[in-house]
This record gives sequence, structure tokens and C-alpha cells, in this order.
Amino acid sequence: MSNLKLCQGPKCHTYYTQDRLKGIKGSKTYQTRRRSSLVMGEFCDSRCYYDWFVKHGTRAIDHFGRTTEVKHLTEDNAWHKQYDWNSNDETVYVYRNGITKEQRPLTKAQYNDRSYTLNTGE
Ligand SMILES: [Zn+2]
Repeated sequence: MSNLKLCQGPKCHTYYTQDRLKGIKGSKTYQTRRRSSLVMGEFCDSRCYYDWFVKHGTRAIDHFGRTTEVKHLTEDNAWHKQYDWNSNDETVYVYRNGITKEQRPLTKAQYNDRSYTLNTGE
């Protein structure tokens, strides 16, 4: 019980599901869900995540920093890893640039290495 966390959805307790209905006969209540594994670490499901954002999202963005200018993804940072199958049904790994469409071969090890990148910044 101790490693269960409460869902942070503001309306979690208002959804009529059997697992939320708890207590002894005569004093049953619908209760906030407790889970060991939560969506985004805080919510029992995506509906509760959405409910939280509807209630607090704008204030959270204003608090942590609103995007006020257009961001640009340039050629230098438009590389993304892909895989496909060739005619022999072998997996082929490539680095593909989303702007120039240039493709470069990639080894499986490079594909799996999360720190390996051709991108130069953000
Ligand atoms: Zn919930």
C-alpha cells in the first residue's frame, strides 16, 4: 500500500467505475484512484491527465515559461533515425534529414545508441 500514489486528476473521484467505489455498505464513496504506476507519473489514466491540464495548464505554462517566439528546426538538427526492411527482409538503419531528405547509412549500434546523433544542437 505504501508505494501506491494518488492520482492527481481533479475529477478522478467523480468517475463511476467499480474500482473507485470503496467502503462498507451504507458508507460507500467513489474515491481517487491509487496506483503504483501512473501516466506521466501522476495520473491514473489519460482522462485524469487531461482534466488536470484543463484546470491548471494555462497557469502552469505561465509559471514555467510560455513560448513567445516561433522556434525553428534547421537542417543541422533535422536528422532522425529510421529503419526499414530491404528486399532480403533484412533490417536497414538510416539517418534521414527531414529538410534536405538526405539519407546516410547507420549501423544497428548507432541506431540504438541514444547519444549518437548528427544533430548539432537543439
Ligand atoms: Zn485518476
